[in-house]
Amino acid sequence: MSVEQAPVQRADFDQVMVPNYAPAAFIPVRGAGSRVWDQSGRELIDFAGGIAVNVLGHAHPALVGALTEQANKLWHVSNVFTNEPALRLAHKLVDATFAERAFFCNSGAEANEAAFKLARRVAHDRFGPEKHEIIATVNSFHGRTLFTVSVGGQPKYSDGFGPKITGISHVPYNDLEALKAQISDKTCAVVIEPIQGESGVVPADVAYLQGARELCDKHNALLIFDEVQTGVGRTGELFAYMHYGVTPDILSSAKSLGGGFPIGAMLTTEALAKHLAVGTHGTTYGGNPLACAVANAVLDVVNTPEVLAGVKAKHQKFKARLEQIGEKYGLFTQVRGIGLLIGCVLTDAWKGKAKDVFNAAEKEGLMVLQAGPDVVRFAPSLVVEDADIDEGLDRFERAAAELTQA
Ligand SMILES: *Cc1c(COP(=O)(O)O)cnc(C)c1O
Repeated sequence: MSVEQAPVQRADFDQVMVPNYAPAAFIPVRGAGSRVWDQSGRELIDFAGGIAVNVLGHAHPALVGALTEQANKLWHVSNVFTNEPALRLAHKLVDATFAERAFFCNSGAEANEAAFKLARRVAHDRFGPEKHEIIATVNSFHGRTLFTVSVGGQPKYSDGFGPKITGISHVPYNDLEALKAQISDKTCAVVIEPIQGESGVVPADVAYLQGARELCDKHNALLIFDEVQTGVGRTGELFAYMHYGVTPDILSSAKSLGGGFPIGAMLTTEALAKHLAVGTHGTTYGGNPLACAVANAVLDVVNTPEVLAGVKAKHQKFKARLEQIGEKYGLFTQVRGIGLLIGCVLTDAWKGKAKDVFNAAEKEGLMVLQAGPDVVRFAPSLVVEDADIDEGLDRFERAAAELTQA
């Protein structure tokens, strides 16, 4: 039974929504795999993946199956009760990673909020209130709550909202000497994105993460990896820390974890987890059966040798063609990133114009992303078909030709 609904269009956004976003001119209404259709029936290829979220594309049968099965059983019980999907998901994450304990929430910002609160709590319990300083990196992104914008290294997101959370400093990314100079016995945690996602797809150097690990150990500080964007297969390993061979004390995950259904997770060890005793932290929706049922299905599909190996193979396919296009049209100086998180750095002539590339791609029926004004980002489904990659990159080449000839 379908109920007649009032027609809506893009112009309604400006009438009824808070203007904190500037959405594209078209409205997607349906997706299947790596294809999306808008209100007019126009078909687009999706290399944006809902900003590194739709890890298995749109309407993947395993996820639709898990969601509908759970939807007919039990949606929500609150954390006054536990539930089977949450326990299964925690087992899966514990079995697959360094972690021994999981905390579930609803977003990346919430996963980081939990991570930062845990780090401060551990230091407080073990060493006293003096040890509360958090070191983050310049240009990092950790979410939009007040704590997470304060930790994030981008003043444009944290300025103008009154006093920030204090006890936080920022050092240049991939600069071990700067971290060494800043860290002290007052440091409770160092937080790093293994690949800086939002600010340009900048992968960490192995020696940087190894050095950060050693410095943290020396100063009794916890190493937090924000894997909200890099986790759940994105790099061709289940988590990016496995790619680097450097193990954090706390890891935050979200985005791909739910494949499009909101969920976040904070993973840690048993010894640290015990500092968040009953009543110290919580969330109403976190770990609800619907989200956890979908995340279980995501992990079952993603954490397989075929899918993870496929990510590495598809990376090569994207990189080779993007380098070729970048060179032919004088668009890119570099194509960087790991797995299916790829950043194309614009040449001086196109610096600051990532939005123009986004618009040109959209005109050709292709969804891409920016990562700041100077980088075009690709974060497609991990199971994007080779034929869709070819067709999408053909469209991208047409966009590049159109843009550079204009
Ligand atoms: C997207 C992102 C976040 C924030 O996640 P939300 O779900 O938007 O709160 C945090 N950290 C990183 C690295 C991200 O890419």
